[in-house]
Amino acid sequence: MGSEFDIERILWTEQEIAGRVAELAAEISGDLIGAAGPPVVFVGVATGAFLFLADLVRRITLPLAVDFVRVESYGSGTESNGAPKISGDLKIDIRGKHVVLVEDIVDTGNTVSCLIPHLRAKGAISVSVCTFLDKPARRKVHFELVGGGKFYRGFECPDSFVVGYGMDYDELYRNLPYVGVLKPEIRAFLVLPGCQRGFKRRFLS
Ligand code: 5GP
Ligand code: MG
Ligand code: MG
Repeated sequence: MGSEFDIERILWTEQEIAGRVAELAAEISGDLIGAAGPPVVFVGVATGAFLFLADLVRRITLPLAVDFVRVESYGSGTESNGAPKISGDLKIDIRGKHVVLVEDIVDTGNTVSCLIPHLRAKGAISVSVCTFLDKPARRKVHFELVGGGKFYRGFECPDSFVVGYGMDYDELYRNLPYVGVLKPEIRAFLVLPGCQRGFKRRFLS
């Protein structure tokens, strides 16, 4: 349970991910190189973006700072509830700074459309979004970038629930170094009503 044996197919390998992350970092570095002023702030959306953020910033060739926000919009299910809440806020003062919001997936768009105005209200001069995966087919909410910020994405993702490279299902699979689709029987089992996590773990491990 929680291992590679639960994966039906791999969408992007570790090597493909590394190559694409390097390209994104070069593009972002090139776009922000002329931006005079304080370090660029890379804001990861916890927890899913943690691996992507770590790999991305290692390849950015600009002075930068890193911070996190935490947003609650998913329980253990796979659908956004449409009303994300910021449950953990920035520690860094972003007033007068360029911000790159780093996400694992932009799906319905609810999360980024909640966070962009929040970052703007805190005084960011520009807000870009860099998402590892983008699921445009599932977009429900349109969002506006701030101050000439851009939208960067690693890969366009098909309309399937994916795990790995930071992304979870019920907090599992984040450590897989690739991105894959879960076997349907694993998902079906984990969404059984009344199925308590401790029970699932004992039963399936
Ligand atoms: P939103 O619907 O607000 O754009 O996306 C909210 C969050 O849902 C994403 O940042 C991501 O953490 C999670 N999410 C969306 N699609 C998937 C998916 O296929 N797999 C996983 N593990 N998380 C997803
Ligand atoms: Mg996320
Ligand atoms: Mg999740």
